[in-house]
Amino acid sequence: MIEYLVKISQAIGFDPDMIQGGGGNTSVKNNEGKMWIKASGSLLKELDHSNGFVEVDASIIKNNLFTIGDKEESYNSLLEKSVLVTQVKNKRRPSMETGFHALLGDYIIHSHSVYTNIVNCAKEGQNYLSKLEKILNKKIIWIPYTTPGYPLSILIGREIEKCSPNVPTILFLQNHGLIVSGDTHEEVILLHKTINEVLKKELAVATYPTASITTNRYHSFDSSSYILTNIKKYLNSDISLLEKEILFPDQIVFFKDKISWYDSSINSPNKVLFTQALDEIYYSTTTKEAQTIQETLIAYFYILEHIHKLGWTPNYLASTESNAISNLESEKFRKKIIK
Ligand SMILES: [Zn+2]
Repeated sequence: MIEYLVKISQAIGFDPDMIQGGGGNTSVKNNEGKMWIKASGSLLKELDHSNGFVEVDASIIKNNLFTIGDKEESYNSLLEKSVLVTQVKNKRRPSMETGFHALLGDYIIHSHSVYTNIVNCAKEGQNYLSKLEKILNKKIIWIPYTTPGYPLSILIGREIEKCSPNVPTILFLQNHGLIVSGDTHEEVILLHKTINEVLKKELAVATYPTASITTNRYHSFDSSSYILTNIKKYLNSDISLLEKEILFPDQIVFFKDKISWYDSSINSPNKVLFTQALDEIYYSTTTKEAQTIQETLIAYFYILEHIHKLGWTPNYLASTESNAISNLESEKFRKKIIK
């Protein structure tokens, strides 16, 4: 089964338009209720036969998820209890999204595809799905925004019940991403690819921008015009909006309390520093974290740019939702280990 997990992870893990940093996750199950799932904080592109995933007993999760109460600690300890083998150095936890993986089909890909997120992060998105359903000739389940982890797993569980005895295979998560499931690894890879290809064509999207980070002996920096141009264009050069106008949870994980203007006279504790002229970004962190932040910034502007081009309206998260994410213990954990 592990070879299939590696295949579905590598099918999307290298594409920054599908996965930014440590986001997204994959899983496979056998018919005895065992599930192999990406470990929290690992990168999908680094998942291989011996590292980056954990083996869990999916039936323990399935049988107890709805009775543990809505405390984050109870959910985390249920996930810990379900772990059979950890194929990760430093004993990592299963992904915080393990709950919904336990409930869905045998082969699952959950991505943060920017093409689906153009739809998921627009006020018009839910209505657009009926058009997409017709083109794909498949049913799509819309999951209204809720906090990742336990609340999202429970909400998906309720939707699955409504569809019974069928198990939904395509779920669009508002302000978050895409989940697809299938009976084989080929099927799930193809379904994920088809949805994205159709959306690219239907939404007439631009080529996804590429950018690189240059590192010298002092810091990493980035003068990619895509991010800088769009800060001027869509945020009116107000970088503080990156922490306020939230389109998806990873934006809070990677931007909140990390962004400021660059001032050569001050040793800033922030990790992302913009020059006043908006011609350069300095990343005062590891190259790995700098890359994650850059990928997240590009995804943010790409989604925002396309929502505007379509004449749609961005649907930002309410501040109560953003605070809920900042306070998640599992997100703090993820942030810590992405470095
Ligand atoms: Zn996610």
